[in-house]
Amino acid sequence: MTADRPKDFIRDIIDADLAAGRHQKIVTRFPPEPNGYLHIGHAKSICLNFGIARDYGGVCHLRFDDTNPTTEDVEYAEAIMRDVRWLGFDWGDKLFYASDYYERLYQLAEELIEKGLAYVCDLNEEEISAYRGTITEAGRPSPYRERSVAENLQLFRSMRAGEFPDGSRVLRAKIDMASPNMKLRDPLLYRIKHAHHYRSGDAWCLYPLYDFAHPLSDAIEGITHSICTLEFENNRDIYDWLVDHLTLPARPRQYEFARLNLTYTLMSKRKLLQLVEEKRVSGWDDPRMPTIAGLRRRGVTPEALRAFATRVGVAKNNSTVELALFEHTLREDLNERSPRVLCVLDPLEVVIENYPAGQSEELDAALWPHDVPKEGSRKLPFGPRLYIDRSDFSENPPKDFFRLAPGREVRLRHAYVIRCERVVKDAAGNVTQLVCSYDPSTRGGDAGGRKIKGTLHWVSADHAVDVEVRAYDRLFSVEIPGAAGGDPLADLNPASLVVRTGCKAEPSLRSAAAGDRFQFEREGFFFVDPLASRPGAPVFNRTVSLKDSWAKAAAKAEPKAEPRAAKAKAPEKPSAREALSPEAQALLERHGLSPEDARVLGEPGPLRALFDAALAFHGNARGLAAWIVNELPPAARAGEPLPFGARELAELSSLIDDGTLSGALGKKVLAEMLNGGGSPKAIVERLGLKQIGDPAALGPVVDRILAESAEMVARYKAGNKNVLGALTGMVLKETRGQANPKLVSQLLLDRLG
Ligand code: ATP
Ligand code: MG
Repeated sequence: MTADRPKDFIRDIIDADLAAGRHQKIVTRFPPEPNGYLHIGHAKSICLNFGIARDYGGVCHLRFDDTNPTTEDVEYAEAIMRDVRWLGFDWGDKLFYASDYYERLYQLAEELIEKGLAYVCDLNEEEISAYRGTITEAGRPSPYRERSVAENLQLFRSMRAGEFPDGSRVLRAKIDMASPNMKLRDPLLYRIKHAHHYRSGDAWCLYPLYDFAHPLSDAIEGITHSICTLEFENNRDIYDWLVDHLTLPARPRQYEFARLNLTYTLMSKRKLLQLVEEKRVSGWDDPRMPTIAGLRRRGVTPEALRAFATRVGVAKNNSTVELALFEHTLREDLNERSPRVLCVLDPLEVVIENYPAGQSEELDAALWPHDVPKEGSRKLPFGPRLYIDRSDFSENPPKDFFRLAPGREVRLRHAYVIRCERVVKDAAGNVTQLVCSYDPSTRGGDAGGRKIKGTLHWVSADHAVDVEVRAYDRLFSVEIPGAAGGDPLADLNPASLVVRTGCKAEPSLRSAAAGDRFQFEREGFFFVDPLASRPGAPVFNRTVSLKDSWAKAAAKAEPKAEPRAAKAKAPEKPSAREALSPEAQALLERHGLSPEDARVLGEPGPLRALFDAALAFHGNARGLAAWIVNELPPAARAGEPLPFGARELAELSSLIDDGTLSGALGKKVLAEMLNGGGSPKAIVERLGLKQIGDPAALGPVVDRILAESAEMVARYKAGNKNVLGALTGMVLKETRGQANPKLVSQLLLDRLG
């Protein structure tokens, strides 16, 4: 148990369970359904479940939740095992399949029937849903609800024996048709499906539903903490009901955390399958896919994925993480494992007119920059014919263009200073060649005190290797695909893959082997494609470009002015991370703080002391940092005492994390605290500030606002999607800021269709 161990609300729960002696050993599970490949969201869940097992000396089971015969396949199960292993986790001998429990689950269903807690229902799907009622109206009991135990048993056995067609009957739990939690209104446990299953074959025509199979599989395996995503919050009541009413070897508990959402990315397995089936991508492992297989083939490392999972943390509120943060994490990881080499993607010929024809020389070129503690170099041939990138030349350069132009000088990386003397064009006026001169006294790039602003990458034309480069970019061109209401696949980025052949690489890359990683200077990080490459003919996938929009945004928040040259395609700039003090950098790495917050809290002083003290009470470092850095009055930074302490601040942050307060309500509470109002919980009670997260309570408000805003609704329907924000604001105002904003926009969307 090191100080670097992540802290989050689930680990807090486990700590408390262990302290109270509720468990001796922690058992978690990762339960994928083998109906598709794993994606980066699953990676977060894998890191959480396996990470907890590792940190607490427990175990994590890999369990295939395979209860749907029509969509599952052994190909998927195998891919999932490969991906979990590649991520660096090991389930030992704890590999399980829900399908192995079919007989046991069936016996448990009979136990429920015998206890009078389940019945066979002959209503069809539509009728079941009509009988279930609505959030505001209680359901009605099914006419089959009072069947006798004997009749239920006999019918259920006949269902198993294959005597009824698909969809004709189901087994339902007998719980409460008036429950405010609609999920408890006699949920379905078993359905008839005459279908072949990839593991159990044709042994069954009766399959358990998730709500039945999942908790019972957990109990059978002795899982202590069953961690799932927030959508299952309402299913927890069924979970508890089942494990409390059946004879089982263990009493597991379910906890929900926020799923990972990423901008420019879709994570629905159904949509990913559609991309594959419609051949919008080359397969599940297409390097543009957010699948683990795709990321691996793109060149992402397991270390980067794990670091990202740690950095985004484990929260109780859904949010969308910026893809730029993932890319930033990736660059940090690749930086230290990618030797720097030269490759010209869009070659333009340069002739050095004062270099002796037919000659060449070799230059020593370090493979690593100064800030990477690694050694090694290679020889770079230099001669009278070179290539530079076409984008590094401009005939009529804009003011801040520091690359090559007629009459201008640039430095060639590791080589000489050259000057552009003449431009050669074809009949159509296209530039086909640059005639340059070189300054022999500048070997190695030493310009002898002369100010040379630009440094370009280049290769010797007579020694270059022709390679194929696949420049991958974001698969979608908008932050939230489908947000405008249409088909998300309509938002695919048409330029997500640009294949370039005839790129000119330095000769050392001839021997690049599948799986090797490089940084092509000034271009990005590249990975030798394991499938398309042949010996002597590597194909390079661009894993990520060097343009770091995350670090850029962070640097913007910093008062120091950025050099103007940043606008040009500059050689690698120090990232914002490198500009941080060691202490701030440690905060960024240990707690995943944003660079701005890390910068403030990296300074010793009252804010840092408050942060450290609050962290002891509540593990959400990023949440705490945001409160301290953004919301406390400036005087607090100067050391003016606050009317509350670290414990209260931690309490405030935890009220946000557990969904009691929205951000806006949290600010109201903080204002009270600053006025000497006491503990946040007491303030919430006193002012009745709890966030309203109940659809039944918000529905009527939403309906009223919509009824009063006919004109806005019409504008929305006419395609003005901005209206949604305004309507959400009106509902929030109506509830004095207490409505959960996400829920409000969901309810609005539901109603607006
Ligand atoms: P579906 O159920 O639609 O097939 P799924 O993405 O939920 O898709 P599962 O195979 O059921 O797929 O997921 C396995 C585990 O991964 C579950 O515990 C689920 O909660 C978790 N998981 C899935 N998507 C995410 C995500 N985006 N972020 C974090 N965890 C996720
Ligand atoms: Mg699922």
